[in-house]
Amino acid sequence: MNSSSELSFPAPAHWIDGRAVPFDGPVIDVVNPATGAVIATVPDGTSDDVDQAVSAATAAFPAWAATEPAERAAVIRRIAAGLHERGGEIAVAMTAEMGAPRSLTGTAAVGLPPMTIESLASVAEEFPWSEEIANSLIVREPIGVVGAIVPWNFPIQQIVTKVIPALLAGNSVVLKPAEVAPLAGRIFAEVTADAGLPAGVFNVVHGTGQVVGEALAAHPGVDMVSFTGSTRAGKRVSAVASETVKRVALELGGKSANIILPDADLKAAVTVGLASAWTNNGQICGAYTRMLIPAGLHDQAVDLLREAAAEYTVGDPTDESVLLGPLASEAQRERVTGYIERGIADGATLIVGGPGRPEGLPTGAYVRPTIFANVDPNSAIAQEEIFGPVLAVIPYTDDDHAVDIANSTIYGLNGAVFGEPEHALAIAQRMRTGQVDINGAQFNPFAPFGGYKQSGNGREYGRQGLEEFLETKAIQR
Ligand code: NAD
Repeated sequence: MNSSSELSFPAPAHWIDGRAVPFDGPVIDVVNPATGAVIATVPDGTSDDVDQAVSAATAAFPAWAATEPAERAAVIRRIAAGLHERGGEIAVAMTAEMGAPRSLTGTAAVGLPPMTIESLASVAEEFPWSEEIANSLIVREPIGVVGAIVPWNFPIQQIVTKVIPALLAGNSVVLKPAEVAPLAGRIFAEVTADAGLPAGVFNVVHGTGQVVGEALAAHPGVDMVSFTGSTRAGKRVSAVASETVKRVALELGGKSANIILPDADLKAAVTVGLASAWTNNGQICGAYTRMLIPAGLHDQAVDLLREAAAEYTVGDPTDESVLLGPLASEAQRERVTGYIERGIADGATLIVGGPGRPEGLPTGAYVRPTIFANVDPNSAIAQEEIFGPVLAVIPYTDDDHAVDIANSTIYGLNGAVFGEPEHALAIAQRMRTGQVDINGAQFNPFAPFGGYKQSGNGREYGRQGLEEFLETKAIQR
């Protein structure tokens, strides 16, 4: 692989026991959603491949688990440096495999992953690996072999947030990348080897969720499965994993509300809210996809939204000036288009976008970024995760009404409040979600990230993100 815009991806292979293992069975095409071109292929792996990777991870576990945490953190910091070095290449791969525009990959593929790794390494270096409680010594130990299953929306970052804390905790890992965007998995594997991670501690098996994902979740040699993806697939992972009573951590879907209070800076709230709903084409689990606005400010907010929306350009994701590329796949395009049609059929007011393709883009997985106003909070586009650039503006009467609407979906991942800080904090405390951002506050990699309700049961990032991958033993003496 190289770091220029010229793409050349390696032949299909898993990564097992510290090396690429060539695969000559059936393959999965990796399709550039902007052009429809097949840019690479990866193995359509089997449960036998999972067995091999789990054996390698099982063999490597005891020695890795026995290393000092500081030694593990040193290897992990070298992985951060390696990813930083290959950031350009990772960014090119992300654009090619899932359509994220260059304007986003600088942060999503190049900046954020090493920064997240550094934050997790420092957490591990300062972590109390044991403590005394009366006559007990409480020790924190790795769980064993971790199966990590990730989605395609931020290919490298999703790997980092699971695999890095799992390794820092002393576990060995078998990763299944998303079949839509599997290329980051290979680059990450090469970086781990270059960083001196012992062979077998990190392995990659490519394939579908139904075959490789479920084989990992079911495997008796896998002690924990950490899953990020849709609530639908998360339920299946949980069910399959239950037979072996392994630890299951789920990071699932969202339908996050952005509550704009009457005392908010309306323009800022609307602008930041739209950016959250549309960035990465709405393919962000924590996107603020519902904008809750006081009924008396609804029309003013709609005018501001129209103005803000005009700034968004859709097109070839390799063009530096473009803000939105195609969706990740043709299947995503069909799904999102279906929701846009559903919104119209259910009587919401279409104010920007709509079904069909953006002007001048007759091919590729493009949709028109869309805003609906006067949305019924119980309608499908206000209740279901669309995972596309579709914002639902919902009017409310008072604080209680806003909180009721915000908490009315099966999800509880993320939320936002804009308003006078004390008022906003009081509202944030009533939201049944794993995180809430007040007045566009910035992302904090040391804060835990995860969901309430059907958005999942795990936490990633920071200290809680490390503890997720640890057992607890009490020794009395
Ligand atoms: P998806 O559920 O279709 O797939 C995610 C991963 O799970 C893929 O690797 C897939 O192959 C695998 N998978 C699918 N079915 C499986 C099964 N039966 N058993 C085991 N593995 C299976 O999701 P997606 O379309 O890749 O990603 C979008 C979804 O991910 C959205 O719902 C989004 O909200 C969610 N997501 C959540 C977070 C979070 O942190 N909470 C972050 C990003 C994305």
